[in-house]
Amino acid sequence: MRGPLLVLNKDLRIISANEAFYNAFKVAPNDTENRLLYDLGNRQWNIPKLRVLLEEILPEKNTIEDFVVEHDFKDIGQKTMFLNARTLQQGPDKTSLILLAIEDITERQHLEQQKDEFISIASHELKTPITSVKAYTQILGQRFRKAEDMKSVELVEKMDSQLDKLTDLIGDLLDVTKIEAGRIQFHESYFDFNELVEETVEELQRTTEKHHIANESQPSITVYGDQDRLGQVITNFITNAIKYSPQADKIIVKTVIDKDNVKLSVQDFGVGLSPVDQAKVFERFYRVGGSKQNTYPGLGLGLYISSEIIRRHQGSVWVESKKAKGSTFCFSLPKTKQKFNQKLKQQKKHSR
Ligand code: ADP
Repeated sequence: MRGPLLVLNKDLRIISANEAFYNAFKVAPNDTENRLLYDLGNRQWNIPKLRVLLEEILPEKNTIEDFVVEHDFKDIGQKTMFLNARTLQQGPDKTSLILLAIEDITERQHLEQQKDEFISIASHELKTPITSVKAYTQILGQRFRKAEDMKSVELVEKMDSQLDKLTDLIGDLLDVTKIEAGRIQFHESYFDFNELVEETVEELQRTTEKHHIANESQPSITVYGDQDRLGQVITNFITNAIKYSPQADKIIVKTVIDKDNVKLSVQDFGVGLSPVDQAKVFERFYRVGGSKQNTYPGLGLGLYISSEIIRRHQGSVWVESKKAKGSTFCFSLPKTKQKFNQKLKQQKKHSR
């Protein structure tokens, strides 16, 4: 173990600590061993969140993984740490011990923030010239059309659609930095969900000649949420369905309503996902690897952004899939403002 590690007995008295612990927290073995964890170095470990973790959660679950604790230590300053703990029984009398590994992620977090800030600034800077190029492209298109130079019109249209792709990629990068910084804004209102599904399907149908996108939605469902952001999720599901089913010709979009929720699913008959990948596709930057990795371009951000949007709508998102058979991506949302607020309240209570 290269990081700081403590071995505690079940009363949280320190049995031993490693060198890394002494170095990181500027304490000596004499002042550490046989002392209660909370009494160490000016009671700097007497952290309310840590107490709950060790006294309430650990005895129940026997293991704690990547629990984040932020604390301002007297000697070493503000630190963010990942705590991992495990209980185990030792010797013939099965004495209970606790292994507590502490990982200082302050520096890593700082670098992550810098990286996010850089992506955010770079994306903003890229947006302006692209907007100008797009405007010029449109002017060029009009000129060629006037001159009846249809070959050039076609080329300029291709250029325009590539610019749209670039704008979407930059939009994804900006969204991710907003999510990370907790700055993503939502504008909720009541709107016709199926109108949104229908418009999105129609728009994306124009982008594919091979696939027929069948819309099996129920008519007129009013839903409370951010229409643009939910449209972004539906677009992401359908564009992925097109992208990851190059051999298929059908995609099925369905909405189902029950008393409290509306569920949307997008089914394709494409490359599918293994169970391991299914568990990971909603993670940031996750892309399925393998020899075909470069066949499908992308940043691995769309599903991460989608899952965040749905999470912020107090909904859930999931995938059902079989490798080489196809995938069905789904989300479910509370339909009404009352349900939305009720779930928000429950969630806040849970995270307290
Ligand atoms: P991107 O498509 O830009 O890589 P996403 O976040 O939208 O990013 O998707 C993450 C990964 O999930 C993709 O790289 C792909 O491997 C997998 N994936 C997404 N949608 C599908 C689908 N419909 N069928 C199979 N794999 C998919």
